[in-house]
Amino acid sequence: MFIGHFAVGFAAKRAAPRTSLAILLGSASLIDLLFPLFLLLGWERVWFESGSNPFTRASFFYPFSHSLAATVVWAITAASIYWAVTRYRAGAVVAGLAVLSHWVLDAISHKPDMPLYPGASPLVGLGLWYSVTGTVIVEGLMFAAGVWIYAAITRPRNRKGAYGLWSFVALMVLLYVANILGPPPPDSSAVGWVGLAFGLLLPYVAWFDRNREVTLRGPDPIK
Ligand SMILES: [Zn+2]
Repeated sequence: MFIGHFAVGFAAKRAAPRTSLAILLGSASLIDLLFPLFLLLGWERVWFESGSNPFTRASFFYPFSHSLAATVVWAITAASIYWAVTRYRAGAVVAGLAVLSHWVLDAISHKPDMPLYPGASPLVGLGLWYSVTGTVIVEGLMFAAGVWIYAAITRPRNRKGAYGLWSFVALMVLLYVANILGPPPPDSSAVGWVGLAFGLLLPYVAWFDRNREVTLRGPDPIK
């Protein structure tokens, strides 16, 4: 899953209004940011088979970023660091849950390639990806709902807050479509560098989020 994870990050702002959207999107995508790093380090692998389905033509070996046990460790780590820095409990809980949500969504969408733990683990995956149409509908609706929630509970302080958000949304949709219609990446290091490059967008997200204000009134949903 790709923009479905961003949907979680956008919607999470509702539960942790004082947390930067960059933290929420980064948490929901954390293990996809670790994967390219581990790929370039040679700890994990991706390889491509020919085939018309853009989702299932990639096969992964990613026990340290994408096993359930590793994801729990990353979730606790992310929540702990965020708590230590901010003392904002709702933000820490939501960041941790966003990290975990990634595994659940990947387990629903991937073919069975998600390990429960590093080593000789059974592999799980319910295979939403076998249906390209089904995947696009599910992910598209999730993304639209996530962005809608974020846009409904925040408002731009200025033009940067407005154009920043909508240019990011448009870019994500473009990249999603390009990923579906385009050829597979030439090799695994290309996947690694492109994946890491996505991390460079997070400062941009933090920037437009700072130029928007939360309009929710009352106490935080999570105490
Ligand atoms: Zn993933």
